[in-house]
Parts: sequence; structure tokens; C-alpha cells
Amino acid sequence: MTTDNKKMSLTTKVLLGMGLGVVAGFIFRTLLADVPLVQEYIVGGVLQVGGQIFIASLTMLVVPLIFVSLVCGTSSLKDLSTLGRLGGKTLSFYLFTTAIAISLALFMGNLFKPGKGVDLSSAASFEAGEAPSLSSVIIDMFPTNPIHSMAEGNTLQIIVFAVLFGIAISLSGKAGERVSALFNDFNEVIMKLVTLLMNIAPYGVFCLMAQLFSTLGLDAIVNLMEYFLVLAGTLLLHGLVVYSIMFRVLTGLSPLIFLKKMEDAIMFAFSTASSNATIPVTMETTTRRMGVDNKVAAFTVPLGATINMDGTAIMQGVATAFIAQAYNIDLSLGDYMMVILTATLASVGTAGVPGVGIIMLAMVLNQVGLPVEGIALIIGVDRLLDMIRTAVNITGDSVVTCIVGKSEGAMDIARFNDPNAGKREEQVRFNRNKAPAAPDSDQ
Ligand code: ASP
Repeated sequence: MTTDNKKMSLTTKVLLGMGLGVVAGFIFRTLLADVPLVQEYIVGGVLQVGGQIFIASLTMLVVPLIFVSLVCGTSSLKDLSTLGRLGGKTLSFYLFTTAIAISLALFMGNLFKPGKGVDLSSAASFEAGEAPSLSSVIIDMFPTNPIHSMAEGNTLQIIVFAVLFGIAISLSGKAGERVSALFNDFNEVIMKLVTLLMNIAPYGVFCLMAQLFSTLGLDAIVNLMEYFLVLAGTLLLHGLVVYSIMFRVLTGLSPLIFLKKMEDAIMFAFSTASSNATIPVTMETTTRRMGVDNKVAAFTVPLGATINMDGTAIMQGVATAFIAQAYNIDLSLGDYMMVILTATLASVGTAGVPGVGIIMLAMVLNQVGLPVEGIALIIGVDRLLDMIRTAVNITGDSVVTCIVGKSEGAMDIARFNDPNAGKREEQVRFNRNKAPAAPDSDQ
């Protein structure tokens, strides 16, 4: 029974699903483009259903996972001042990495000038949405009804309620211990559910990729090749080089091991383009594969998926430079400072779901007086870039999770260095579930 899994790891299967999906998508788009049956029943039918079920199955885990793991994490804190320190450190690192990301993006955007000589005729019109004010963002963090927050999937409100609930548990003596034990058991069960559902990932990723690549307008990418390459290059530079340096300097651990262990989470983020839907995988990766204690990761991962968007900030930086160049508008140093500030805030306010970053870009452009219609120039190539920046977003969350975990003495270094940590466990456990009658079953 275990031979299947021994032959091919889940990561390899997901990678295969992704590759085959891209190839299938191209075939549907080229060779089978005129076959209505294929387009209607396969692309618009089977693939659509499969992809959406995959995203739904990840998303359905998010609310219970955040709530239960954060209650477990907070209730296990011995000293409440730890919580303040943890929060302060996490927020500072999140803002710091975002400011670096956007500065790098502005630098690259001005070095390569992808917007010079761009044909503006395609910038038809773009309706800018209302950006929320800072005060409403802060007020909105506090739930009036936690059940409503959960029903809506409002991550920040769930975090606030879970932290308060966890603190109350830790202050409630014997009753608190009993509730805490129950939550710890819940946590085990939910992590098991994550593991089970991850096994449908190769098929889900195949459906998402095949559907996307059968409809993706590649002509738009060719027209905006320079913008695409500068942005994708900056995202890769930040994701691979800047993070590696930061990780090495601030944890003393190997960035190569880190990146290797990120592979599943990166693939999930890439194919779903949603930091939020990837939370279960990021949590599993940082805790079970990298050894960060749940009391840190349960807080930093969902918070990061909601407010830490380095990839999105990079897109906003390069896009701002691009639009300024396309419209021949010179930005002053003050304008650039303003872009750094507003893009950091805009990426904080961006929800971890597909396509929101580009809508929040309107806020940055407005702030420095650039035409919001410029967004219409780049929106056609945004989907693929969204996938790449989401992968960077969650890598940033994981870097900070490890930095904070290590600095708090809440990271199991042996587990981090063990290439098989988490992986082995995942497969053995899944197979036990498949075979409840196995002699070594502990059910
Ligand atoms: N899709 C991104 C994320 O989920 C957000 C964005 O930039 O649109 O992280």
C-alpha cells in the first residue's frame, strides 16, 4: 500500500500535475480550439469543476485551522508578555520586508524602464475601486460577532478573537487546561484533514493549470514582454536572493534547505494564486517540515497571508514605474517615498485572494497623481504574474515565521535540517487511514 507513495512523492505528483496541466491547456487552446464539445464539456466542465473543488477544499480548512491552531498556540504561552513581543517582532519584520521589496521594485523599474515608448491606445478605461481608509481597517479588525467573522472568513477578526480566547484559556486554571487539551486534539484532527486533502492536489493542480492555459491570452504577454520580464525577474530576485540573504543572516540556517522545503507551498500558491487558500499548506510546511513551534506559526502564517504581501508590493512598484514611464510623467523623490509608503499600506490591505493586488494599485497611483487608467494597460498579463507574486508572498510569510520562531527559541533545528521531516509522517499517516485494519493502527 505504501509502495505508490514510495515511488513518487506528493511533491513530484503535484509538479507532474502542473506540467501536464500546462501542456493539456496548450493543446486545448491550439489543436482543439474549434471542438465545441471539448471546450464546453472538458475546459468549461470537468476542468472547471475539478479546479474549483480543489480550491474550495483548501479554503474550507482555513477558518477552522486558523481558529483552532491559534487558540492552541496562545493558550500554551507561559507568559503573556511573550505575545506582545511576538506580535511586535512579526509586524516589524513584515513591514520591513515589504519596504525592501517595494524599494527593489522601484529600483528595477527605473533601471530597465519597461514603460518607455508603450502604445497607450489600449488603455481604454479602468474603474478604480474605493480603497479602505486606515482607520476603517483598524476598526474592522475587531469582531462584533465572532461567528459572523468566521462565516465571512475575516482573518484579522478571527485572529483577534482566537488570541483573546487563548489568553482566557491560559488564565482559567483547571477549566482552561481541559479546554486547551480539547483544542489540541482538534488541532491534530484538522492537521490530519489538511494531510488528507493534500492528496487530491495533483489532480486539482492539473485542472487549474489546464483550464488557465487553455484560456490565457499569451498575445498580451508578448506585447508587454518587457514589463512581464522586469516584474517576473524582480519577483524571482526577491524570492530567491533577498530572502535567502535575510534568512541566512537572521537565522543562521541554510536558505537552501528552506527553499527546498517550501516547494509544496510554492506550488500551491502558484496554482491557486491565493495566499489565503494556501494557509493550510504554509502552516504544515513551517511547523511539520521546518520545525517552527505552533505557537509562533499559528500566529505569523495567517497574519502574513493577510497583511504581508511582498510580491504584491513588488508588482505595485514596477507597475507604478511602468505607468509613469508610459505616460511620460516624471516622479520626484518625494513621489517615490510616497509610493513606498502607500504600496506598503496597499499590500497590507490586499486580501490574499486572486487579483486583488492590481485593484489596490489604484490607491498607489491616485496618491502620486498617476492616471488610474494605466492599470488597463497591464491587467491583461496580470493573471500569470499574480501566480508568481502569490508564491513570493507566502515565501515571505514563511521566512518571517522562521526568523521569529528561531529568535524566540521556538524552532526545532534538528527537524529543520532533517530533509524528510514532515514528509514521511504525512504519508505513513495517510496510509494508516486508508487501512484502518492494519495491525499497527493506533485508531
Ligand atoms: N493573489 C495575491 C495573494 O493571494 C494577492 C494579489 O496580489 O492579488 O497573495
